[in-house]
Amino acid sequence: MLTLHGSGVGSGIAIGEAVVLDRDRPEIPEYLVPAEQIEAEVSRFQAAIERAGAELAAVRDSIPSTVPSETATFIDAHILMLQDPVLAEEPLATIRERRCNAEWALTARCQALVEVFDAMEDPYLRSKKNDVEQVVNRIYNELLNTHGQDHDILSRDLSGKIVITNDLTPADAVLLQHHHMRAFVTNLGGPISHTAILARSLRVPAVVGLHGAIRYIRHGEPLVVDASNGIIIVSPDSAVLREYEQRQREEDRLRERLHSLIGLAASTRDGTAVTLSANIELPGDIEAAVKVGANGVGLYRTEYLFMNRSEPPGEEEQYSAYTTVVTRLQRPVTIRTLDLGADKQVDGGRSGGNIATNPALGLRAVRLCLSDPGLFRPQLRAILRASAHGPAAIMIPMVSSLDELDQVLEMIRETKTALRHEGYVFDPAIPVGGMIEVPAAAIAADLFATKLDFLSIGTNDLIQYTLAIDRVDDEVNYLYDPLHPSVLRLICSVIKAGCEAGIPVSMCGEMAGDARYTRLLLGLGLRSFSMDPTVLLEVKNTIRHSHLGELEEQTREILTRSDSGRIRELLDRLNSH
Ligand code: PEP
Ligand code: MG
Repeated sequence: MLTLHGSGVGSGIAIGEAVVLDRDRPEIPEYLVPAEQIEAEVSRFQAAIERAGAELAAVRDSIPSTVPSETATFIDAHILMLQDPVLAEEPLATIRERRCNAEWALTARCQALVEVFDAMEDPYLRSKKNDVEQVVNRIYNELLNTHGQDHDILSRDLSGKIVITNDLTPADAVLLQHHHMRAFVTNLGGPISHTAILARSLRVPAVVGLHGAIRYIRHGEPLVVDASNGIIIVSPDSAVLREYEQRQREEDRLRERLHSLIGLAASTRDGTAVTLSANIELPGDIEAAVKVGANGVGLYRTEYLFMNRSEPPGEEEQYSAYTTVVTRLQRPVTIRTLDLGADKQVDGGRSGGNIATNPALGLRAVRLCLSDPGLFRPQLRAILRASAHGPAAIMIPMVSSLDELDQVLEMIRETKTALRHEGYVFDPAIPVGGMIEVPAAAIAADLFATKLDFLSIGTNDLIQYTLAIDRVDDEVNYLYDPLHPSVLRLICSVIKAGCEAGIPVSMCGEMAGDARYTRLLLGLGLRSFSMDPTVLLEVKNTIRHSHLGELEEQTREILTRSDSGRIRELLDRLNSH
């Protein structure tokens, strides 16, 4: 029996068998081939292409019906790429002319192709480079005989299994969930990464950032994943297993007790009403929000519609997805425009493609949208059209400059005019809000507030950018601190700016769904929280046991402190009664 420690994601205990995926990629060899063996090398390359094609076709044919149909389209595009002369024929000429081994020839072609994609102006077409790299990786796997070992997550039976992997992208997490994995464990990653957030909403217990520790876990080994405490137990003995089974039963009972709060008001003991909304990733998540009685959706992360597919969804597909949510809920649905970039790549970055040096500071979210109106406009049209079916709001992620915001507002105005001319119905007064998640926007929140109908504090990024801590980097995760005085001051001033401008301020980062911070945020003046539906009842429970009059003074004291130890002590005191 072995106990390993990492960062727990969400709550819950999973007991199951390990499936180890994605071991480190082997080195790509480069060597000269003797003249008499050149034709054999050519045949080796052709056979690899054939096997890669056959394997892809088999994966496509075995996709379960629960997986969105775009996944098959995505695989078909890869099959077509494998047949393209640039990949299927040109490396043969390179092998013959340069007498190099097949892998080397493939590397040379791949580099030439990647450069062509890199030079493209259209960011969407540029992102297609990742598909090329994925296909090339597949051929490498065949050449090096590493295929089927670890890399192909789509061809695995993961039902009830615990996935062990070096890293997992949000796109991978969606695919794995369709394969009914029970839990996952990764070497890399932090508890605020998008993969972690997704795991919580998928109700998949996870432990991330185990560093090299997962080297000790082998295929088929029995495991306990204790997500609440960030612990993995490898090959537990029967006493430990019994203890965890008992804890699983207790957690089920606690969940049942919290269920009794559904339908009760989210009000403090002294009668202040608080809005509790849900964060969702995919239209299907809306059922979880309805089930816990959320007041609405405070954050719909639309980028997940754009992942694991070869083409972005068109206006009609988006319209249908947004309408599903708006119609089902009939309560305010805040639809956030596309926030792709940083750790959210369309293909999950599986190919390890060319990522900007500082992706979190790069062409992400609203920046990407403004640089590509062909991507942005259909989304604005779809959201506006969905607003005809129920209360909806548009939320802009990562605003950092007022000029940028003006451009977005102008695009929304133009889109409304176009829709009106085309005879579409929409809510002409649809609220437009901005996420306050970049320090520049938090510091100047009063200026942004003059142009917007509401603000929503995205603490995940606000903390990352304020403290200069990459939210997906496990090496610096210990510094990721929602209680840092700078973070608390920024939150406080954003709430104040919204209040003075007379517009609502909500919070939709993970901090809003962590019951340890509920009283502190209430004390700072926050009255609207949006979070994963799985934690909504726990936060409601805390609100119902809180007395605003009592906690405001203690909150003021926390704001005067600079040392994190004392701040934590005061927070414990705040939470203790
Ligand atoms: C945030 O940054 O707090 C947020 C809610 O957005 P995301 O986690 O999707 O970046
Ligand atoms: Mg964010």
